[in-house]
Amino acid sequence: MADYRQMWSDLGMDLEKHDLLCEVLPDAFGGVFLSQQKRPEGMDFYDFVVSEIHGVRPAELIEHQKQGGKVFGTFCVYVPDEVVFAAGGIAAGLCGGSQFWVSGGEKVLPVNTCPLIKASVGARLDKTCPFFQIADMYVGETTCDGKKKAWEILSHEVPLHVIDVPQMKRAKDIAAFESEIFDFIKVVEEVTGNKITAEKLAEAIKLINNKRKALQRLYNARKASPLPISGKDALLVTQIAFYDDPGRCAQMANRLAEELEQRISKGEGVFPQDALRIMISGTPMAIPNWKMHHIVESAGAAVVVEESCTGTRYFENLVDESGQTLDEQVRALAERYMKTNCACFTPNPGRIDDIIRLAGEYQVDGIIDVNLQFCNLYSTESYLVKQALAERGLPVMHIETDYSEQDYEQLRTRIEAFLEMLRK
Ligand code: SF4
Ligand code: SF4
Repeated sequence: MADYRQMWSDLGMDLEKHDLLCEVLPDAFGGVFLSQQKRPEGMDFYDFVVSEIHGVRPAELIEHQKQGGKVFGTFCVYVPDEVVFAAGGIAAGLCGGSQFWVSGGEKVLPVNTCPLIKASVGARLDKTCPFFQIADMYVGETTCDGKKKAWEILSHEVPLHVIDVPQMKRAKDIAAFESEIFDFIKVVEEVTGNKITAEKLAEAIKLINNKRKALQRLYNARKASPLPISGKDALLVTQIAFYDDPGRCAQMANRLAEELEQRISKGEGVFPQDALRIMISGTPMAIPNWKMHHIVESAGAAVVVEESCTGTRYFENLVDESGQTLDEQVRALAERYMKTNCACFTPNPGRIDDIIRLAGEYQVDGIIDVNLQFCNLYSTESYLVKQALAERGLPVMHIETDYSEQDYEQLRTRIEAFLEMLRK
């Protein structure tokens, strides 16, 4: 990695602690990713991004700030990035996926908080992530109780705007979300000093839709057999999409998808044709959380799709681009975002429908429904997921885990037993 110490120091980071993180990441990445066989050449870009994970993109964000631009740090797929880009800002996903940050979060949060929240808070309080240091404003949401309270703590550190995400999906809830987007527009205009016009918002809607289309194209390639890309590599692409420049993200994902399409036409795959096809559903896997995919794929099965916010929930459903006025565009944004099926909604039959639909589209042999430890929402919903899948004869196992390696062997044994059962 190039030398970014001056930049990190200027950001007020704890360099000594950050060195410890920099020491472990290359080995972890090498062991999980670089050891794979027949990886697509298009993964070179993503390997480079990881090798410079706290360097290249943070430097771009700082450059944007030097030109007078603002950076908004986000934590959830319900935050409409389009609004930020329409005002000339940059939205960057901040969710923490490393065990390294968890202890920092535990200093101020109850231990029985989900690791994603603990890691996100820890990354900021420990000053070991440049993205958390760079953001001019954090954008939170009211999806779960742990996050709601975490925003109150983080708001002492950084200006923080909270979007009130409804808990139901009635017409009046979609209207309420529309009104939240209008409030968000006002906040973003104030922070950036730029007016959001219908023209600018139309451009931003196209920009983010193009990113979604590229990721959809990539995921479509995963429907093929033999599989042209591993689940680990596809997950990495989605994880990076959260904070990369959206135009470049679309370009790189399209380039990779093209390579995968060529592989499909030649019948080339990364797993034997008879490898079991697994869907992982549930809570998001923020970078560098590759644990579940690594266990499944090390056991010889392939992860072919993720029903999660670091999977299909991130890019399914496009925003209608036909709106001419801000009112029409905001309506289209509200309708699109409220189609996303997070367990924070009640009732939430759409998520179960999604899992069943995706199981057919990706020809899956079994589903591993995973939730991060202490995520009450997904953990409770797993009961209904299991029931609905059992009724349709779709094999499913439920796993609750965290970011640590402590349960690794136990998970490996359970997953191998599940795969064995599927092979019979
Ligand atoms: S799981 Fe729910 S709360 Fe978490 S990022 Fe996804 S939509 Fe947001
Ligand atoms: S995984 Fe669950 S508890 Fe954690 S942030 Fe997402 S919804 Fe909240």
